[in-house]
Amino acid sequence: MEIGMGWIDSHCHLDFAEFCQPAELYARLKEAGCGGVLVPAISAQYFPRLLAFKESFAGANSGFVNIALGMHPYFLSEHQEQQLPLLDEYLASARPLAVGEIGLDFALEAHGFASQLWWFEQQVRLAMKHQLPIVVHCRKAHDQLACVLRRLKFRHGGIIHAFSGSSQQAHKYLQLGFVLGLGGALTYDRAKAMHRMVAALPAHGYVLETDSPDMPPAFARHEINSPLNIPKIAECIAQLRGEPRQRVYADSTQNFMRAMQLSA
Ligand SMILES: [Zn+2]
Repeated sequence: MEIGMGWIDSHCHLDFAEFCQPAELYARLKEAGCGGVLVPAISAQYFPRLLAFKESFAGANSGFVNIALGMHPYFLSEHQEQQLPLLDEYLASARPLAVGEIGLDFALEAHGFASQLWWFEQQVRLAMKHQLPIVVHCRKAHDQLACVLRRLKFRHGGIIHAFSGSSQQAHKYLQLGFVLGLGGALTYDRAKAMHRMVAALPAHGYVLETDSPDMPPAFARHEINSPLNIPKIAECIAQLRGEPRQRVYADSTQNFMRAMQLSA
């Protein structure tokens, strides 16, 4: 697996129907300095589509599209127990960079919490079996999530995607071996607490992401979000941290490589 120099969108769903012309997008991304993307899965029924998308970038472009495989807590009603051995097989045969996106979303209806915890734990166990990091979606459940990771003694780290918590929560995740995904949410003027958290993060603590096509940044709030928005997001981070944008690119790319167990 090789990721060239440049910035990386560590979380975008480019296999979704919104991106109907991936070849054109690829050319524009290369021009804008993108060195690679990580596309996480959301549901097992789309694993074949995601693998086909990655394979469409074979040859000279291989390594540009990286994938994670897992089942997202939003789509709990789609997941079936027999898909866990299927995920296990895919992790062995497709060798994704990580298990994801998986996690806990306690902003959703309360009756699914026990089930969300079960699915999260099963998939963390698979990540441990295959010695892979995880790509995590977490809302209103940071303590519960950390509790599962500690109990299972999970040591492979990964990315806490779309992180918008406090500096204190950030610090806890860094101690658990994770990096934090920073994206469009921080481009909003009202996100003052987030601005303070971003300014205070250590250089080794974050990666860049868009979560495209969702979560459009303030400067493109009525558009379909795309990884092409990363340079402006990076510029916001650079201003908050009082650093040049190139520093943000260099640190976040290096952090991505480390978190995904890739050698730089
Ligand atoms: Zn996502």
